Amino acid sequence: MILFKFLMMMAQAFAEPVSASSHQALVLVRGDEFRPVLREVELQDLSSDQRFEGKHFKIVKGVEEVPILLNDPDPELRLKAGTVYHHLTLARRFWVQNLSSEFVKSLPPLVIRLEMTRAFSDLAHYQHERVAPEYNNALSIPQGWPMDGVGGDSWGNEIWFRPKKQILTRDLPGSGLSSSGNPISAYLQALTRPIKESVVSRLIQITLQRWFYPATLATPYRNQVLQQAGTLAMGALILSGSRYLDSLFLEKYYYLDTAMIPEIIYHEFAHIALSDHLKLTLSTPMLEGLADYFATAVSGNPEIASNIRQYSLSMPKNGRNPIRYDPAFETLYFSNSDFVLSTLWRVRDLFPERADLLILKASQRLSTARSDIRHDLIRALLEACREFCLAPRADRLRLRQSFEDKGF
Ligand SMILES: [Zn+2]
Repeated sequence: MILFKFLMMMAQAFAEPVSASSHQALVLVRGDEFRPVLREVELQDLSSDQRFEGKHFKIVKGVEEVPILLNDPDPELRLKAGTVYHHLTLARRFWVQNLSSEFVKSLPPLVIRLEMTRAFSDLAHYQHERVAPEYNNALSIPQGWPMDGVGGDSWGNEIWFRPKKQILTRDLPGSGLSSSGNPISAYLQALTRPIKESVVSRLIQITLQRWFYPATLATPYRNQVLQQAGTLAMGALILSGSRYLDSLFLEKYYYLDTAMIPEIIYHEFAHIALSDHLKLTLSTPMLEGLADYFATAVSGNPEIASNIRQYSLSMPKNGRNPIRYDPAFETLYFSNSDFVLSTLWRVRDLFPERADLLILKASQRLSTARSDIRHDLIRALLEACREFCLAPRADRLRLRQSFEDKGF
């Protein structure tokens, strides 16, 4: 009987077509000191030997459905497709291996759209070409189907990367808080020192919001999407790790090539990975903080860790205070705030080995629309600790202490 089974297995193994393909692609990765470097890597789990089409990801251009050719004549597009494919593979592996996420394991292949300028529509997948195109950001969209009479097919979860577009800095809306000067310079100056007061923080938030998402200011709320990249601590890193960081960029132009930024790729994938319980219907500070937390965990980059610590942890020796809880952090206005990220990062510092799992389990007790930071996130973390901490009683005490330090 065993022999028969074995023979059957062998027969099946030989009968299956060879579907895995291998392809070396040039991709952007983080090198020393977080610098972006280009490297040849082998793309994993490809199911095509012609296109960026794999078991888990299918990389297309704009609204097209056929994936990009591995040897597409446009080297920039090839580089972007390779970079996105590679980092999504790393992100997925983290969720499957480190967090044993059954949901991520069960996801059908995700469609990833590069150079996608169309605005999102929850009634028709994307808006008509006439609607103002969008640039310089990235977003995750929930699955959906067209409204009656609209036509078209249903769609699954997708991640969209907008093309970069140079916008003259002087054309960006001013922050309203400074009558002169470039808002980005103000933002950058602010980034170089810790945030102490909400006034300063407010300036940063406004500037950051406008900087990262100028297009969203002009679009109606319903069409504004939803899950966008970038909180403060991440923003600082993205800047320092951007190959476009030059004086011209800072002084004159604003542009962001999101498909070339590994942390944004991890962030967007985290939104998808959490979307079985945290629906992609709204951007909230809690959701953005969670996505950033897992983005930093995937990256495992020590530069990120120290950067976030710099923003988030109390450093008594420098006489600095941690950013303390303020009810304003709950509002959409602050959805780029790194307050949640910094709170979660403290959990990681307390429990380096358990934090990722603990935070995932806590997130499963939360809902996108109904949960707040002060009551729900904190309670969820304490409850998850009861079940998943190694020494629940003592560890919950340590958590409580840490939350008190943050002003909860
Ligand atoms: Zn986001």
